[in-house]
Amino acid sequence: MKSTLLLGLLLIPLGALAHPGRTASDGCHYCRTNCDYWGVPHNQRHCHYYEDPKPEDLKYSKVIKKYSDDETSFVTLLHDSTYMTFEQPQQKKVDSH
Ligand SMILES: [Zn+2]
Repeated sequence: MKSTLLLGLLLIPLGALAHPGRTASDGCHYCRTNCDYWGVPHNQRHCHYYEDPKPEDLKYSKVIKKYSDDETSFVTLLHDSTYMTFEQPQQKKVDSH
């Protein structure tokens, strides 16, 4: 419970920085700004996830856009007419092996 709360608090500023506009509690909202950048049609409801897409997500979805630069990388998938953006802030890779 405590960790979920903490995770939520950490994700909120990240989302606000990355993509203007509020997301609902499920992480979804309607695209109003920078829609082309995200590969999402204007006024299209879509969802943000701050993690890597799961193999199943990739398998059953169409890749709409893949993007990365020094600061961010994301992939936008279309799954059953739902747009989902999986976003990972670029971090120095920590080799855990
Ligand atoms: Zn969005």
